[in-house]
Amino acid sequence: MTGLVLATRNAGKIAELRRILEVPVAGLEDFPGAPEVAETEPTFEGNALLKARAIAAHTGLPAVADDSGLCVDALNGMPGVLSARWSGRFGQGDKDRANLELVLDQLADTPDARRGAHFVCAAALVIPGGVEHCVEGRMHGRIIAAPRGEGGFGYDPVFVPDGHTRTSAELTAEEKDAISHRGRAFRALAEIIPGALATAR
Ligand code: IMP
Repeated sequence: MTGLVLATRNAGKIAELRRILEVPVAGLEDFPGAPEVAETEPTFEGNALLKARAIAAHTGLPAVADDSGLCVDALNGMPGVLSARWSGRFGQGDKDRANLELVLDQLADTPDARRGAHFVCAAALVIPGGVEHCVEGRMHGRIIAAPRGEGGFGYDPVFVPDGHTRTSAELTAEEKDAISHRGRAFRALAEIIPGALATAR
């Protein structure tokens, strides 16, 4: 049986959800013609639900989708839902690097005491027929002055999680999964999925 479809083509996210969930997980690669859903909502929850609804409708299967980003205190919570395209949608070259460097420039005059930030991940489950759930996970920390580390992706090289001295790009994948916004959100969703699937039958 195909248990769930995860609304992503990102193999890392599919592997992460497979490690956490006890039901089979397919990805969008298994569903040619699945729609590309633009993230047009102003909240992580709104975008996660938008994607999960579209993929549940296309596949006829329970669908999970996530949306995530970095919220910087000194930038009033931005880049937020714009995290993936903070330096502009049409930027050349390494997009992650350009996004991270723009945030560092914007915080250049911000003292250490005001460099707090957190990652957010909203994870949504939509079961055809109308059942919807959405949970959120967070990872709090601070933005340092210069990038460090080769692991992770996105803003990881400039983010030091609370209680750590290494950036999230210097943690192992297992260390990051244990504390990350995405790990927390997926684990919270994993707890409600069996009950939600059973009641929808
Ligand atoms: P999405 O949820 O795949 O749309 O990711 C949104 C963007 O948020 C990514 O492109 C990254 O810039 C940023 N982001 C989300 N999660 C992480 C993370 O765990 N580390 C670093 N950056 C992240």
